Amino acid sequence: MSGESFNPFRMAQQQFDGIAEQLTLDEATRTLLRVPDRELHFNIPIRMDDGSYKVFRGFRIQHNTARGPAKGGVRFHPQETVDTVRALAMWMTWKTALVDLPLGGGKGGVICDPHNLSMREQEALCRGWVRRIIEILGPESDVPAPDVMTSSQHMLWMLDEYEHLVGHRAPGAITGKPIGLGGSLGRTESTGYGVVFAVREALGELGLRIEDTTASVQGFGHVAQHVIDLLTSYGGTVTCVSSWDQKEQAAFCFRKKDGVQLKELRTITNSYGEISRAKAADAGYEVLPGDSWIEQDVEVLIPAALENQINRDTVKQIKDSVKIIAEGANGPTTPPADAVIKERGIWLIPDFLANSGGVTCSYFEQVQSNMNYYWTRDEVISKLDTKMTEAYYAVSQMARRRNIPMRDAAYMIAIARVAEACKLRGWV
Ligand code: GLU
Repeated sequence: MSGESFNPFRMAQQQFDGIAEQLTLDEATRTLLRVPDRELHFNIPIRMDDGSYKVFRGFRIQHNTARGPAKGGVRFHPQETVDTVRALAMWMTWKTALVDLPLGGGKGGVICDPHNLSMREQEALCRGWVRRIIEILGPESDVPAPDVMTSSQHMLWMLDEYEHLVGHRAPGAITGKPIGLGGSLGRTESTGYGVVFAVREALGELGLRIEDTTASVQGFGHVAQHVIDLLTSYGGTVTCVSSWDQKEQAAFCFRKKDGVQLKELRTITNSYGEISRAKAADAGYEVLPGDSWIEQDVEVLIPAALENQINRDTVKQIKDSVKIIAEGANGPTTPPADAVIKERGIWLIPDFLANSGGVTCSYFEQVQSNMNYYWTRDEVISKLDTKMTEAYYAVSQMARRRNIPMRDAAYMIAIARVAEACKLRGWV
């Protein structure tokens, strides 16, 4: 992180305002959509393992529910802020609308560092989070999912607490659950796979062969690992990945010119996606500073970590070889960097298109949970591919027709759909 002072909510509003202007939305619709519909901010007191009590700050923010129940993940992060959750909730509204799911947008978070919490303490946090917002949760009102530093285990604790409170089973109340306990096959890999489906179509449109393509990926978490998996199984090569090092409080990059090996890296990675530097060096990886992922001589850049990674400063490091940027993370590129990317003619697949595979599969999971009938993995992945590919072409065709960036095209489709839903409901 560096450069301009960064506020993700301001950025999300700035992006919205620009499109609202182009769509000539009326004043009431703009007022309704430029802020979240409702927010809960609350304390979660936890008894720690040593017997002491600690109070954590939690949030659930619903941006819009005109098209369906609020939907979105819950992040556990020490730097979580209300404005980050607000922005992410807003992006969820656009994401679900863009892939045409009957869902709205929401997001949650807790300011905490799971690295410093035992599993029992994390369980208490999950249960406490649900207890504080039980009134607004439910399969028909608001459906949480995993996000940064939360997993299927966290989701199951949340669901269990929810079911205790309502007095019956309700597997459709949370997505990203473990397989066999209401989870969907394919959900874990869905976000990363979705990014690669979009990259595959973009390469095709640009006349590039995936087998001749190299990529650099920022991050080694839920999204990044599955990006590497599918991209390499398609014959592409990932030459560089970055990962966070908790002890150093810094990221590092791991480079192998003939391609990083996912299986090998996984054997030297902890459950937070942190790759051991010493072991990576032994396995023949070059270990580089954390921001080097962006300055690689590759055709595809995939930021799949956090927001504000490609900004006014870092954008200058992008090499001329780069043809495509696919945003696996939410909000990785700031508006000043967007302007540079546009000018340089790099094809950017925006976050709420590129990473929409996760929520799309969450929707499939919810459908299966509500039916209590589960599909095969192939069925899930092929439905995901169809949905992502359709959404990709809807955006790319509009971008080409109007000669506008992919992000603007995606926003136009999504915001128009949400505005229409609000209008039809008689809200504005
Ligand atoms: N947290 C993921 C996202 O940002 C998934 C949300 C969901 O599945 O509801 O899209």
